[in-house]
Amino acid sequence: MNAPLQDFRGRARQALDDARLRANFRGAMDYLRGKRAAQFPDAGELEALRDRGQAIRRDALARLPELLVQLEARLTANGIQVHWAEDAAQANAIILDIVQKQGARRVIKGKSMASEEIELNDHLGAHGIECLESDMGEYIVQLAHEKPSHIVMPAIHKTKGDVAALFEREIPGTPYTEDVDALIQTGRRALRRKFMEADVGVSGVNFAIAETGTLWLVENEGNGRLSTTVPATHVAIMGIEKVVERLEDVPPLASLLTRSATGQAITTYFNLISGPRRPGEMDGPQAVHLVLLDNGRSQAYADEQLRATLQCIRCGACMNHCPVYARIGGHAYGTVYPGPIGKILSPHLLGLDASRDLPTASTLCGACAEVCPVRIPIPQLLIRLRTEANRDPAAQVAHPLRGQGASFSRGEQLVWKFWRGAFAQPTAWRLFRWLATRFRWLTPRRQLGWTQHRAPLVPARRSLHELLKARGQPE
Ligand code: SF4
Repeated sequence: MNAPLQDFRGRARQALDDARLRANFRGAMDYLRGKRAAQFPDAGELEALRDRGQAIRRDALARLPELLVQLEARLTANGIQVHWAEDAAQANAIILDIVQKQGARRVIKGKSMASEEIELNDHLGAHGIECLESDMGEYIVQLAHEKPSHIVMPAIHKTKGDVAALFEREIPGTPYTEDVDALIQTGRRALRRKFMEADVGVSGVNFAIAETGTLWLVENEGNGRLSTTVPATHVAIMGIEKVVERLEDVPPLASLLTRSATGQAITTYFNLISGPRRPGEMDGPQAVHLVLLDNGRSQAYADEQLRATLQCIRCGACMNHCPVYARIGGHAYGTVYPGPIGKILSPHLLGLDASRDLPTASTLCGACAEVCPVRIPIPQLLIRLRTEANRDPAAQVAHPLRGQGASFSRGEQLVWKFWRGAFAQPTAWRLFRWLATRFRWLTPRRQLGWTQHRAPLVPARRSLHELLKARGQPE
């Protein structure tokens, strides 16, 4: 986690006041939206593919326990050692144990949000084991001692000037240059040496296929393939929801993922891992482990509505299209998963008490749900999480969420009760409106909170009464 979650409002305010950050994000989001749109010129094809993606993910989740058992059996038969982790602490302990049993001092890591979620680098570092990021974006944020600000492009908040200055400062003998190709070559040279020195490679998993016992990884840089094949031991980590039933389920999901995430028809590399090196093979790790991480996912799974959260294929499109994320960036959220997906996932990973501000950080405009390739109804889930955060903590419900009632307030309940009463009766509503227009002078003249950053919707001194009159509407 980047910083205490409770500071969300303060960090959001700071981000809004940072004109440079806002310009960086605005430019980056516009670019990514354009790239995605160009990949889906045929609306009919897009909607059909989204239907297919949603059906695959829903079917897999409906049979999740059964598929996980099948996956474990197939992986084990293929020679992959499977470990189950209930939470971040268990996952870290399992990976540390594997690394220590190898006598390893260096770990090289491909891109993995699950490893970010458990803060693996910090845990290994605390035990004297160096864990180096090999994905270029992750490498940049690690070098800068920062956290990723986007789930697909971790260093998207940085300009090429920022990266040039960072490389000049942190990589000995590197001159300042804003030539992107030269910067990439510098990073690659520094990383290639490390691949050869690493004893253990860690990676994430995009999809795990139950029928074949295969781990499917997508990437663009080749670092994932190096991380999973050069070191003697490969440890993969994934959330338990990433399983699908059949190999043929993956191509539609992979197509949705790459086109929605980076606007690419296909990524440069697809890695399909079905076991360690076999006798007679020239390369590949001698041992492969998979850590299956729950860490709160079972809570989402237990609830029929919130289960849709687990359909996510981590494309990041909801973030790129979110008007809140585009203005405050990823770090303001204080969570590993920012943006709309973070707002619906973090309450399960961290508890509603620790993340109660996040579901409220949305305009409910619905842009996220419109672009989500697997049709997760994000606004509905946000409303549900708001309800749970405001529910009386003592209320008996079938599947209480961790931290239920964290935002419960008796005063607010009373206001809503009054509002419901006024709204339900025409006479009371007309009276309320009549009073509200006459006493408008009591409302603040200044725009407060986040509205300070918006253009005034109406001239400050023009009353609702005058507006309605001008439009010829009855008060
Ligand atoms: S919620 Fe949907 S749009 Fe957002 S990251 Fe997940 S799959 Fe992509």
